[in-house]
Amino acid sequence: MELTLLGTGCPSVDYRRFGPSNLVSTKKAKILVDCGSGVTQRLNQINISGASIDALLLTHLHSDHVVDLYQLIISSWHSYRIKPWIIYGPPGTKIFIKKIMNAWKKEREQRINYEVRSSIKAFDIIVKEFKSLGNIKIKDIKITYFTVDHKPVKYAYGFNFYYNKKKLTISGDTKPCENIMKFGQNADVLLHEVFIDGEIKETNKMRTNKTLHNVRDYHTPSTIVGKIAKITNCKKLVLTHFVPTKFNENKLMKIVRNDFGKNPIVGKDLLKIQI
Ligand SMILES: [Zn+2]
Ligand SMILES: [Zn+2]
Repeated sequence: MELTLLGTGCPSVDYRRFGPSNLVSTKKAKILVDCGSGVTQRLNQINISGASIDALLLTHLHSDHVVDLYQLIISSWHSYRIKPWIIYGPPGTKIFIKKIMNAWKKEREQRINYEVRSSIKAFDIIVKEFKSLGNIKIKDIKITYFTVDHKPVKYAYGFNFYYNKKKLTISGDTKPCENIMKFGQNADVLLHEVFIDGEIKETNKMRTNKTLHNVRDYHTPSTIVGKIAKITNCKKLVLTHFVPTKFNENKLMKIVRNDFGKNPIVGKDLLKIQI
């Protein structure tokens, strides 16, 4: 199984760190996790067409994780996708996708009629909403989904991917969360989000201490993520979803290493990890 970090950023714009998105793949299966800003460009960089994605899993419906959903769908049609999209997401995903598809309905119909292609299957979208805990099988990859704590976001999920006796855990967006420590036990790779303490400065009225505190409060601080990784007993810790996107890498490594006991991998866009 291979994990490709497609976007390791957050809502802030940074050309080196696109919006959150990851690809989990085997020779048979391609599963996209989230579709943040720039996802189709990153897929294109690794020669993966939107036409070939087997399923899209959404961790939650924060805009940074779903903002390129329509671009993903329309560009897959342009890439001759001939099968429906299968999208798994939290409660609310069905209505969310229906609204997005409706917003573009007239434009899409005009395009379909004018450009005339052999298939419009790419616009058939099968949406399945998560319960609190469950299993999915997509080709040769088994997935367990579980809830994480990203309050005030009501529904947010993390995932375990299993293939060939290997396990990958993806935290999604979460504050320090018991379910990660429980379901992430003995993962070969734990991909975890991080909020880096001390890197965002209070600047003006738009960035007060209170707003900074609120952002930190629904993510996992750099002073805690290593402790969580240690408790899960994961073999490798890969960090992603950096808030902010620019930070002192050595300092972050040192803080996390002290807690985890090993060096974490500081994720970068397009980094591939074999599992
Ligand atoms: Zn996010
Ligand atoms: Zn979020």
